[in-house]
Amino acid sequence: MRLARAVGRQSLRPEAALSRPRVLFSAPPEHWPLWRPHLYAALAEAGIEADLTDDPAGPWTFDYVVYRPGGPVDDFTPFTRLKAVLSLWAGVEDIVGDPSLNVPLCRMVDEGLTLGMIDWVTGHVLRHHLGLDAHLAGQDGIWRNGIVPPLARDRRVGVLGLGAIGGAVATALARFGFATEGWSRRPKEVAHVATRSGEAGLDALLGSSEILVTLLPATPETEDLLDAARLARLPRGAVLINPGRGSLIDDAALLAALDRGDLAHATLDVFRIEPLPPEHPFWAHPKVTVTPHIASETRPATATLAIAENIRRGESGLPFRHLVDRDRGY
Ligand code: NAP
Repeated sequence: MRLARAVGRQSLRPEAALSRPRVLFSAPPEHWPLWRPHLYAALAEAGIEADLTDDPAGPWTFDYVVYRPGGPVDDFTPFTRLKAVLSLWAGVEDIVGDPSLNVPLCRMVDEGLTLGMIDWVTGHVLRHHLGLDAHLAGQDGIWRNGIVPPLARDRRVGVLGLGAIGGAVATALARFGFATEGWSRRPKEVAHVATRSGEAGLDALLGSSEILVTLLPATPETEDLLDAARLARLPRGAVLINPGRGSLIDDAALLAALDRGDLAHATLDVFRIEPLPPEHPFWAHPKVTVTPHIASETRPATATLAIAENIRRGESGLPFRHLVDRDRGY
């Protein structure tokens, strides 16, 4: 409501005086110096002359809000001529249900974001596939040469979510050689990946996934998707890797499955509360690896191209790309 409170202090300039699109960058303040030069360059490359600012002080005649959670905008009511909100994040659960937002919401789909996630997931899948921990942790004079991992082609990896990122991650894992299956809401074709959908498809995928990667969005439908019953479908000794969203997993059920030895390890990048509170049992659990929501950061050099393209489309009367379905929540 910071913005709504501030509106009374501003005098509105006549809208007709503004011909260039006005773009408000709404993110935590430390991001502006990093993003500003890339945003200018990307807009120039797209042939757009725009007024850019990170200052939400009125007039509220902004045409576009470039949005990242934690910035100054948390109420869209004061904006008088907003054409679209352009999210810097792929996940839009923080904003998608905002009743004050009544213009198109576009999520971030960007090569850098996708490639970053492929790197992170591949690294963590390989850690567990190869059993690297046994050698990294124990530089203790013991010659541990007794365990030979299967070849990647004999390792079954499941990917939940086959969207812009999940689909590319599944294909990359399959190209690497892993026996990869993927699951999505609607039936889908994904290069080199055996795909499934529906409840029966989920059960089958869980039943065969020695390593499970979750790249679903946080929506009411995906809340607690991996509950005790679904976690129990994973093969004994399976590993869970979650760079999707914390709400996908029932935390207590996961801890219980790890404690029983049903699951061997969980590598978690995202959590219901972030930062993950220091007292949370995930931090101290020997079978949990916590990473601080760093699986794939939105990178200014590539993401601003996606932002500029949508502004160009908005200014040309073309449909926006990567529109969020507000009913589905992603
Ligand atoms: P996306 O393009 O929107 O794809 C979402 C996928 O999930 C689609 O395949 C969709 O199925 C599927 N899905 C959604 N709801 C479902 C349901 N109820 N049942 C089954 N499948 C469902 O998203 P994305 O770009 O791939 O990104 C995925 C998520 O990754 C983001 O939402 C975000 O939470 C997370 N992420 C995390 C980080 C990080 O640093 N940790 C970085 C970027 C993104 P359909 O194909 O049938 O629609």
